[in-house]
Amino acid sequence: MTQTTDWQAFSQTVNFRHQAYINGQYQDAVSGETFASINPATEQVLADVAACDAADIDMAVANAREVYRSGVWSQMAPAERKRILLKVADVMEQHSDELALLDTLDMGKSIQQPLSFDVPDAIDCFRWSAECIDKVYGEIAPTSNELLGLITRNPIGVIGAITPWNYPLLMACWKLAPALAAGNSVVLKPSEKASLSLLRLAELAVEAGLPKGVLNVAPGFGHTAGKALALHPQVDSLAFTGSTRVAGMLMEYAGQSNLKQVWIEAGGKSPVLVFDDCEDLQAAAATVAAGIFSNQGEVCIAGSRLYLQKSIKEAFLAALVDAAQEYLPGDPLDPDVTMGPMVDKAQLDTVAQYIQSAVDEGARVICGGLPQYREGKGFYARPTVITDIHNQMKFVQEEIFGPVLAVGEFESEAEAIALANDNQYGLASCIWSDNLSRVHRVSRQIEAGMVWVNTWGDGDQTMPFGGIKASGNARDKSLHALEKYTELKSVWINLKGAE
Ligand code: NAD
Repeated sequence: MTQTTDWQAFSQTVNFRHQAYINGQYQDAVSGETFASINPATEQVLADVAACDAADIDMAVANAREVYRSGVWSQMAPAERKRILLKVADVMEQHSDELALLDTLDMGKSIQQPLSFDVPDAIDCFRWSAECIDKVYGEIAPTSNELLGLITRNPIGVIGAITPWNYPLLMACWKLAPALAAGNSVVLKPSEKASLSLLRLAELAVEAGLPKGVLNVAPGFGHTAGKALALHPQVDSLAFTGSTRVAGMLMEYAGQSNLKQVWIEAGGKSPVLVFDDCEDLQAAAATVAAGIFSNQGEVCIAGSRLYLQKSIKEAFLAALVDAAQEYLPGDPLDPDVTMGPMVDKAQLDTVAQYIQSAVDEGARVICGGLPQYREGKGFYARPTVITDIHNQMKFVQEEIFGPVLAVGEFESEAEAIALANDNQYGLASCIWSDNLSRVHRVSRQIEAGMVWVNTWGDGDQTMPFGGIKASGNARDKSLHALEKYTELKSVWINLKGAE
């Protein structure tokens, strides 16, 4: 279907799920309130979505707790959970075009992005998590002969998941798949800026055989639905992806309520270091451009701080500006377009404010620049490259979450490392060099959860994804993701018997 899909025509036929999905059925918010989901490419309302608040969250959590205790999912044999989750993945695959379209309409990413990455990766995550769950063994402890010590990994209970809008389906699936595989019940609060694909996914999962009430989706705002979920005493663990600011609030809510675990995947301001021993500067420039301009720069790992060794700076900048031309914004439903609009007017204004602050602080825009907004025509920014920076400039230090690249320079390896580490975030980083010793040295010293060398953004389910410092404390994907969704239990069994 994908090759021939007329996306405009298809978008007219989609039936938007707009109610909360609790205990296997759609329902309005208890208050009856809704909020508008806006298509950022047209500024038109797609749907009026249920605005859940504490009352809905109470209902969803109570239901999730009851289902968890019933054992219908939590006590099911892992091989059987695997079978059902593989079916969920199959059903997602059958609805790939629809899920991709929902994310594009909801938050503006170019349709080629969810078709080629977000949706396939979300499906992979379900398959991978399903496949691993009946291969996770417990341990027998080296206790004395009179006692048997069993160490098992058990589901935690009710997981509250709170997710962002930049990869709406994918960021949630990185949490849902391992959390469900491990046997937990989940209440998901998606971003109020993009909840449509997840409201549909919940229904598809039940169609595929997931017992009702195991996965509940309660859309709504952060300060109402999100806060209620994070404060809820019956939520055992929070899995969060979003900003560092909100992550801090969640930790406070956990402290004020039941000391629930708070697993955080937060913001980033990732450095890219290009050394003069990088042999293919053209390829590097094209990848650096993709690292900041794809998905409109609304990417947590975006390589938004580029540091070039002085001797290659001019040649690299010329190649980079050329490469930026590949990201001219346009209608995200056109499969040839590589950059859609920003998610909303507020995000567009944020981008404009940071570009203006860069200019005010003396930096120089060499490509792109301030957005040229026309009311009613979508929230389009331009791929922007800014040079003549120093590291204390506001736009160099803070996460913009838009297509804005700051470019600095360095003389020595030590200076490059110091510049890279001079930031509160520690999510991702990138090194371009064909000197293997240098690559090892620098990757060890760089303060980031992930380092890409002579590439950017590659990822499959086998490697953990996450950061350090203000970028968080958790990892999605790989077997390490299961650490967030299982608890160790120690069981002592007396072997002496009654004699
Ligand atoms: P955000 O922090 O504003 O919102 C994230 C979620 O938190 C949303 O669902 C929101 O409704 C909710 N929320 C807001 N206030 C809340 C509160 N008081 N209590 C409970 N929940 C609340 O982030 P965003 O704008 O949706 O997403 C962008 C951010 O996400 C960026 O900082 C980006 O770097 C980060 N991100 C990180 C990763 C990663 O893996 N590290 C991946 C994607 C995005």
